[in-house]
Amino acid sequence: MSAERKSLKSHRRIVIKIGSALLVDRKTGLKTSWLDAICADIAALKADGIEVLVVSSGAIAMGRTVLDLPSGALKLEESQAAAAVGQIALARAWSESLSRDDIVAGQILLTLGDTEERRRYLNARATINQLLKIGAVPIINENDTVATSEIRYGDNDRLAARVATMTGADLLVLLSDIDGLYTAPPHLDPDAKFLDIIPAITPEIEAMAGGAASELSRGGMRTKIDAGKIATGAGCAMIIASGKTDHPLRAIEQGTRSSWFSPSGTPVTARKTWIAGQLLPAGQLFLDEGAEKALGSGKSLLPAGVRRIEGNFHRGDTVAIIGADGHEIARGLVSYDAEEARQITGRKSSEIEAILGYAGRAAMVHRDDLVMTGAVRRGAKKEDRKEDAAHA
Ligand code: GLU
Repeated sequence: MSAERKSLKSHRRIVIKIGSALLVDRKTGLKTSWLDAICADIAALKADGIEVLVVSSGAIAMGRTVLDLPSGALKLEESQAAAAVGQIALARAWSESLSRDDIVAGQILLTLGDTEERRRYLNARATINQLLKIGAVPIINENDTVATSEIRYGDNDRLAARVATMTGADLLVLLSDIDGLYTAPPHLDPDAKFLDIIPAITPEIEAMAGGAASELSRGGMRTKIDAGKIATGAGCAMIIASGKTDHPLRAIEQGTRSSWFSPSGTPVTARKTWIAGQLLPAGQLFLDEGAEKALGSGKSLLPAGVRRIEGNFHRGDTVAIIGADGHEIARGLVSYDAEEARQITGRKSSEIEAILGYAGRAAMVHRDDLVMTGAVRRGAKKEDRKEDAAHA
């Protein structure tokens, strides 16, 4: 066993994401004995002083079963109705099963906006923290009943990663019907090799994630790797493990096969974690090489280094910052509305007042509002983290 594979009990706060197919059987409905077994695992962790949060899928699958809907794809409004019916049953099942171990459950339903908007994000975080403080287990799902097709997570892998970073968890466990990451989709490639330790999510690792999703679950390996990027970038380790057997957490503890993703060395500040983890940046700033290098050495982004702007954003929105080769290198909170930003693009900061008629900020994105997220050159990530340490 490698040094990176630690006991679950060496963690402080663990988010466990449970895929729909583990909890709900298409024909017979809720898998009660499986649920009871994982609740016993959760109780064992809590008895050791570990805080546990659950991100539970299964609302739509439960609703389908209760409503006896035919198999196959559902229209958005059909899955919203199914979720409305299924979520009640799901939450009740969690609550009842945890109560056997004298644990109280609290339901949290989140929308994408709750994690993308800073104030709502802080509100959700405060509620979840309060639940943990009183010893309850938050049972979290996306609020599928109001999510529209454009504005939704759609998969609980990334939602769980966002919850993990939001709450400063140090471990995220993704339980589904696959036991971990393979070099290629194992059902398609007989030579696919299993990876038990993933020290960093490199472009090669990303390329290994196939599409794959079953009728009951939307997330394939792609969303799991995306979740890994969000979690590990914020200093949270991640495990992908099979939940197909009873007591899957106990099985992990006993060394069952699973993939372990190491957290990145120094986590960035909570605020920068929020900036980096947003799913829908409001716009894009395209840089020249000079500006890219400046960002890499920890400087702010000045209007002079921006070549082009896309999107319709407001001051304070998160924008993606694109390097000279077309890849995202950073995210940040922009100091200007899109229209003003376009007017000062490529211009010196000393010209801003003459162009806009008021003395705005010299930087289009100040370094305190900026976090490196992508293929950075010249050790820029390291610089960024030093900056963070200085501003923490
Ligand atoms: N939120 C969905 C549900 O509860 C599940 C999304 C997913 O499968 O990741 O049914």
